[in-house]
Amino acid sequence: MSKIQMTTPLVEMDGDEMTRILWQAIKEKLLLPFVDLKCEYYDLGLPYRDQTNDQVTVDAANAIKKYGVGVKCATITPNAQRVEEYKLKEMWKSPNGTLRAMLDGTVFRAPVVVKGIAPSVSTWQKPITLARHAYGDVYKNSELYVDGAAKAELLVTYPDGRTDRKVIHEFTDSGIIQGVHNTDKSIASFARACFNYALSLKQDLWFSTKDTISKIYDHRFKDIFAEIYETEYKEAFEAAGIEYFYTLIDDAVARVIRSKGGFIWACKNYDGDVMSDMVATAFGSLAMMTSVLVSPDGKYEYEAAHGTVTRHYYKHLKGEETSTNSVATIFAWSGALRKRGELDNLPELCAFADRLEASTLGTIEDGIMTGDLYLLSTLENKKKVNSLEFLDAIAAKLA
Ligand code: NAP
Ligand code: MG
Repeated sequence: MSKIQMTTPLVEMDGDEMTRILWQAIKEKLLLPFVDLKCEYYDLGLPYRDQTNDQVTVDAANAIKKYGVGVKCATITPNAQRVEEYKLKEMWKSPNGTLRAMLDGTVFRAPVVVKGIAPSVSTWQKPITLARHAYGDVYKNSELYVDGAAKAELLVTYPDGRTDRKVIHEFTDSGIIQGVHNTDKSIASFARACFNYALSLKQDLWFSTKDTISKIYDHRFKDIFAEIYETEYKEAFEAAGIEYFYTLIDDAVARVIRSKGGFIWACKNYDGDVMSDMVATAFGSLAMMTSVLVSPDGKYEYEAAHGTVTRHYYKHLKGEETSTNSVATIFAWSGALRKRGELDNLPELCAFADRLEASTLGTIEDGIMTGDLYLLSTLENKKKVNSLEFLDAIAAKLA
């Protein structure tokens, strides 16, 4: 059997702990037998990040800018305990944060839906993809405690000395105030990433804010989205038969719950933080959640939404058996290979990505699954297998 060929390299970013072990096994069992993998390899595992003073993360981000598509294994974000454990030179920054900043990207998260794992919301039949704006608002705030009667004001000073001020509140007693901001540039990048992603998935895009209450702040988000849609995307949306739809966050929440799914929901930073946790939980499991970072100029980085599954890794190191779910990591690979296939016009590579996903879901629907899914699945003839047995079962189906 001749292997499927690739033309442009995929940027491969290896990672840490249990997911690093799964990464290697996925390549050996599910990819290399079928695809003549063309990858540019970056080792984002913590020891090599430390050895290169984190230069490897920067190099990987530049490679994604150059080639357009990357796939990333989960990585450790060091804290004080990790500095000790790995004898690090420094507490290196989160690789995901570095990649997001360098690619100026928006993160889209979508659940993998499979028979036997029913969403808590019974009307949901298709995944809901959540797009979260990852800059500003309450995450970059300035807060003050006001310890007694006082007048609190907003003050803006321009370089030419011009000022703008507004009373927040005339306090008669103690209280609190908070200043938040966003920038037109960041909102516009977020909007373009959402419109591009909706076109690439051929799904409707919903966007919601609280513009009725926040008549300047949230309204600015609504206006920027509307203007970019009208001037840059309307024709392409109509040609693709998809819709851009703005509604108040309250209305969006009600509609999402009553929906069948199958659309992208764009949210401001805080709404996206809370709603993505709710949607993920309602769909079943974090181990079944995929994530893709999309830049405004159309670069893609695919990964699993979960971490390095440290607890399972320590069991593995003690020689104990693990049953770690590799679905989100497999779907990161299939997503990246499919995107590479689309960009390079390689229909066979896209078809392979489809088969890889179908074989993965088919294995679970046959009743073969890892422990986390075993606990959730409503299938009658289900069997719990270990980490590698699960991959072997998928490989057998794929072959
Ligand atoms: P985690 O790796 O997501 O795991 C938390 C728990 O969720 C696990 O102990 C396990 O529960 C369950 N779980 C997660 N993924 C699973 C899978 N694929 N299969 C089965 N069960 C799964 O989060 P964490 O333990 O908080 O973080 C570990 C490391 O990952 C940290 O160093 C953190 O910095 C890093 N992290 C990286 C990323 C990223 O690269 N994108 C994201 C988050 C965290 P049970 O133990 O109950 O089985
Ligand atoms: Mg959250």
